[in-house]
Amino acid sequence: MSAILIKNGWLGLEGQRDIRIRGTRIDAIGSLGPEPGDEVIDASDRVIYPGLVNTHHHLFQSILKGIAEGLDQGLGDWLQSVPYRHWPKFTPEMLYTAAKVGFSELLRSGCTTCADHHYLYHADSSPEMEAVLFQAAREVGIRYVLCRGGTTGKMTHKGMQKAGVEAETLEQYLTRTEAAANLYHQEGDDALSRVVVAPTTLVHSMPPAHMKEVAAFARGRGLRLHSHLLEVPFDDQVARERYGCSAVELASRCDWLGEDVWFAHLVNASPEDRRLLGETATGVSHCPISNARLGSGIAPVPEMAAAGMQVSIGVDGSGSAEGGSLIGELYSAWLLHRTRLGAEATSVAQVLKWGSEDGARLLGYPTLGRLEVGAPADLVIFDLDQPRYAGVWEQAQAPILCGEPASVERVMVAGRWSMVDGRMPGTDERQLAAQARATVSQLRALD
Ligand SMILES: [Zn+2]
Repeated sequence: MSAILIKNGWLGLEGQRDIRIRGTRIDAIGSLGPEPGDEVIDASDRVIYPGLVNTHHHLFQSILKGIAEGLDQGLGDWLQSVPYRHWPKFTPEMLYTAAKVGFSELLRSGCTTCADHHYLYHADSSPEMEAVLFQAAREVGIRYVLCRGGTTGKMTHKGMQKAGVEAETLEQYLTRTEAAANLYHQEGDDALSRVVVAPTTLVHSMPPAHMKEVAAFARGRGLRLHSHLLEVPFDDQVARERYGCSAVELASRCDWLGEDVWFAHLVNASPEDRRLLGETATGVSHCPISNARLGSGIAPVPEMAAAGMQVSIGVDGSGSAEGGSLIGELYSAWLLHRTRLGAEATSVAQVLKWGSEDGARLLGYPTLGRLEVGAPADLVIFDLDQPRYAGVWEQAQAPILCGEPASVERVMVAGRWSMVDGRMPGTDERQLAAQARATVSQLRALD
């Protein structure tokens, strides 16, 4: 089997090494000479990181950026002005275009695995809406984890009620999720597509009995669990009013804590919440830019890590984090906690680990996100041969220290190039931009 030999690159934060990829995996690392048939890539003045792992996104929002009504609103009102307002108008074609835009941004920021919390489900949803997401992921060459959102019983948010869509029944939620898992969920440490059970928000989307039942279903089927929690204090208020306990205690009562569960945000997790979440090794997807943009606050993730939680990084939907860049989130995470706690709060090594192997582990990939022999071959090559990087002494840390614009030259997913010389093979990005603009006009006209 022929191989790809990448020479002279700065591998992770360690030092200069060569790396050989054979098939879909990393075959060798060290001082390596070419073998007959090897494709040789010279990576001098380049830094190679493991492919970054995004643990929370809403790809459909990639065509709902910068909507005037939602620009200065907090989460509750923003939901009504942006995603819920436009939700019922989405067609599979629109969703496909949005997904392609989102993937292009992710690849351009070094991301090779995307967990997409997709929640546009209602009583009359078509499975085509899922099919186009997996199709777009296959076409661009990115690992895609569908976090299957949804609501049962009734639509509780005023924005959803206004949208005029009806919630699924619990039976619909379970049978449709099972059908998606049968079609798309792959086992194995190198799965290209996965399904996660992910009711939209733990406190509001389903009654506790339903949450308990979907957790049992997920565990019986070998699927992981994901949801939104404590992005705002409202979750705690509602849990206390309705159920007489904190939101995290509610999660515990519903069997929604554990190593196979991760929550987006947790901005308002109290020390007691963190203790419960940490004891059970529950995970968090930290989305600092969206939390800043919506004025939600800064999630205390160094404290969460210290309590024993698993920390990972997400970009969140682009309706509330217009950049869509994973390296941008790592850069923000690196900075923001220093603002709160001082200059020792974060290191580049720590945020890189959160954004790669720790995120991969949360998604159920034990060896992904590491540059190690035998691991799936997902990596990103940053070109540092440009003035803005030339003055950096610690070159290996430059892609995170210098933030955006990230100079991603190549991206590899499962041994195949998804980006070469800053371009996506098989995707005309200008045409994609035109298609996205046309879709925005369509949505405007329907408003
Ligand atoms: Zn979200």
